[in-house]
Amino acid sequence: MGERPSMILRGARLAGGAAPVDKTVVDVAVAGDRIVAVAPALPGAEGAEEIALDGRLLFPGFVESHVHLDKSALTDRCAGAPDLPSAIAAVAAEKRAFTVEDIHARASETLTRCVLHGATAMRTHVEADPRIGLRGFEAIKALREDFAWAIDLQICVFPQEGLTNDPGTEALLDQAVREGADLIGGCPYADTDPTAQIARIFSLAREYDLDIDFHLDFHLDPARMDLGEICRMTEAHGMGGRVAAGHVSALSALPPDEAAAWARRMADAGVALTVLPATDLFLMGREARHLTPRGVAPAHDFHRCGVTCSLATNNVLNPFTPFGDGSLLRMANLYANAAQLGAAEDHALCFDMVSSAPARLMGLDYGVREGARADLVALDARSEAEAVATLAPPLFVVKNGRRTVTRPAPVLHGPGVDRPAPGPV
Ligand SMILES: [Zn+2]
Repeated sequence: MGERPSMILRGARLAGGAAPVDKTVVDVAVAGDRIVAVAPALPGAEGAEEIALDGRLLFPGFVESHVHLDKSALTDRCAGAPDLPSAIAAVAAEKRAFTVEDIHARASETLTRCVLHGATAMRTHVEADPRIGLRGFEAIKALREDFAWAIDLQICVFPQEGLTNDPGTEALLDQAVREGADLIGGCPYADTDPTAQIARIFSLAREYDLDIDFHLDFHLDPARMDLGEICRMTEAHGMGGRVAAGHVSALSALPPDEAAAWARRMADAGVALTVLPATDLFLMGREARHLTPRGVAPAHDFHRCGVTCSLATNNVLNPFTPFGDGSLLRMANLYANAAQLGAAEDHALCFDMVSSAPARLMGLDYGVREGARADLVALDARSEAEAVATLAPPLFVVKNGRRTVTRPAPVLHGPGVDRPAPGPV
């Protein structure tokens, strides 16, 4: 086992297997910030903390690939909006008054919720434009340091209100990437010239060797999609595997054969898909008075076609989505419900889209295996499918070999006896 373990987790079921419930349980030993052994019945080690999992699911944590910490927790100032332009306008009106301290406080609150729900890595989008300047970026950059003990944070700066139509924005994006932003985003649907914005974002990404994460085709009109241009530019710039597209709700308005053609196109080009079910469900189809469309792109179908697909939170408690507790498992559950997925294998796939798939998108060292970083989350469930179906809470979280969250199992106070609530096994 090499280095003496500081912690041994016993009786873990590991995520990633096909047969959910009858997988062999293993023990996992941690030393320093690494996993040093994964095997059945590991020997004890003097001084090591022993944690009994009793067959519960252990995995490296949820990976949030798309969330807006900077404009989260705003519902005391502005309510849920009736449509996308109203949501953008509501935040645009508020954000002139945002201070670094205000953004930091609200983002801390949301990030804490995410950590408590088992997120160990995150990509957060941060707005930069002449209204907000770089105050959001500065606040989130400080947060990245403040929460480094609990979560790895990637910062994606992007122009929420347009680029070519908003003088001064490009210089701010440029400054942010020079001052530590990890990647750059685009939002062509908010621009008066979407194609020109896409060209500028690719140009900046190439100049600084950055990945790109677009907000894309957030509407239900397949006739005006920018996805083809994104795929074309990704290939032209040799950036396959480094470009993601969020929402792409227009894909939900297509018949299956046309959607499948887009899936093949995205897989070929190496463009990832990030679906944001809470915001998509809240803002799409508002023009309908009955038989309202869901507006959620079929990520599970695209995943099966070889596209790297994530499900993510997007907005929390703001005009875009006046809900949210930072639980990615809730996003997987919400997606499965909206997409009408009932089979255990589909629920397991939804789990994959909030864990290993976004980890791949973000290029993370991710896995419960010897030598890997000791990021470990135990859920009160026996399998990925059960976790998604029951919204199983995380019982504890380990980040870089150090315990960061403990959630005690509930206790039932029955007649004459207090006993732990029945666990998953
Ligand atoms: Zn977003």
